[in-house]
Amino acid sequence: MTTYETIIGLEVHTELQTDSKIFCSCSTRFGQQPNTQCCPVCLGLPGALPVLNRQVAELALRLCLATDCSITPVTRFDRKNYFYPDLPKAYQISQLHEPIGRNGQLCLKDFPERVVRIHEIHMEEDAGKLTHDPWSDQSLVDYNRCGVPLLEIVSEPDLRSAEEALDYLATLRKLLMFLGVSDCRMEQGSLRADVNVSVRKTGTQALGTRTEMKNMNSFKAIGRAIIHESQRQIDLLNEGGMILQETRRWDENKEMSFAMRSKENAQDYRYFPDPDLPPVKLDKAWIDRVRQNMPERPEQKQSRYQHEWRLSAYEAEQLTDEPFLASLLEQTIACGANPADVSSWILGEWLQACRSGNCDASDLSVQPESLAKLLEMIRNNVITRTTARSVFTYMLDHQIDPESYVREHGLAMVNDLDDLKQMVASVLEASEQSVKDYLAGKEKAKTYLIGQVMRKSRGKANPAHVNKLVEELLEQHRQP
Ligand code: ADP
Ligand code: MG
Ligand code: ZN
Repeated sequence: MTTYETIIGLEVHTELQTDSKIFCSCSTRFGQQPNTQCCPVCLGLPGALPVLNRQVAELALRLCLATDCSITPVTRFDRKNYFYPDLPKAYQISQLHEPIGRNGQLCLKDFPERVVRIHEIHMEEDAGKLTHDPWSDQSLVDYNRCGVPLLEIVSEPDLRSAEEALDYLATLRKLLMFLGVSDCRMEQGSLRADVNVSVRKTGTQALGTRTEMKNMNSFKAIGRAIIHESQRQIDLLNEGGMILQETRRWDENKEMSFAMRSKENAQDYRYFPDPDLPPVKLDKAWIDRVRQNMPERPEQKQSRYQHEWRLSAYEAEQLTDEPFLASLLEQTIACGANPADVSSWILGEWLQACRSGNCDASDLSVQPESLAKLLEMIRNNVITRTTARSVFTYMLDHQIDPESYVREHGLAMVNDLDDLKQMVASVLEASEQSVKDYLAGKEKAKTYLIGQVMRKSRGKANPAHVNKLVEELLEQHRQP
């Protein structure tokens, strides 16, 4: 039987994290009232002239440098002409001839042998948003998104499976977030991909005809769409059919793709240099400045956490899963907390609180200084971890100073041996059966007794002392 290889190339669009749009000073804020963030420039009214937002070029440069692209010394904008109701100018300002970066690369995380070549990175503006209302048979248009800056990152057809494509997207997304280029909120559409898929007989070199699925913004849907589309092509070829180069739409509910239109070519868009925008010279001084201000990349952070702070590879990876966790870790340590303590608290209690509250890590409002104080109290045996957990829960909803809170509520750890001995003795007295069980060799009974003492102290007893005292007193029961 003939076997086939799947070939995937991705065109990723990402919205930049700038305050204002790419060619005017309108706000890029998401979720505002429709058509309240528009001016003559982003609406394309006659006589309005675009001016490039410098920050867009700087963020683009950051990504180009981080993906080893060669930077185009003089980069230019082109007009891509087409009519659609979400594009009031009837052209999109984009880059075709001199994109800002070319010939870069990105290494995958779980496929270390696969280096994905990046064909180019270019800057462009987003279009407006259409909402089709089948009920009233009307379409509504919101131009707030017109002129929101985008980067398009075009890969070479170097990916060979849905898993590799998803790895590429996840790696790129993380890089974009850590570089401060984009927040990559997929549900807000700030990261979307056009997915190009073809197949070829295993062992052959020539690329097969590809189809393209545009504007996909969920990892899950992308994975499924690739698997489905490559199978559709293989079946078609096996039946003696031919693949048409076309744009297809993936329907996530039906789990099927549908032909939309035959593929358009660059010629169809009548691209030409935008006469309103001067070329942008990216001189060495500017590039050097961007390079010097480059935020640390996730893999750099990972190795620093392991070497500087002795965190495990697992911890370092988890803590660089998103910029918020990394910055919480770093800031809390900067406030004087012990790195291992901070790491274990974030990956334990912090994330647990997010799971129970069904929210993002960054939604918890506990400040690094307060967390550092809390952890120092555990480290210095001022409070137990149990007490710290309940103080932390309280801190989620209240702005408090954990130290004064502990003082005012008498939550300090009970370290006094006489007090503790009394507590242990009274628990043993009240738990005759467990004492017998322990003496008969049931180790578990001891754990239960320790738990009872901790409970009696309302979590405040020094656990190390309790452990020792329970053992001692139990032994005394053995030799009457
Ligand atoms: P266009 O700009 O018209 O969409 P490009 O040639 O620039 O076309 O390619 C766009 C994307 O399609 C790139 O990411 C590229 O890697 C991918 N691609 C091109 N040819 C193939 C193919 N035969 N199979 C899979 N992906 C492909
Ligand atoms: Mg394309
Ligand atoms: Zn505007």
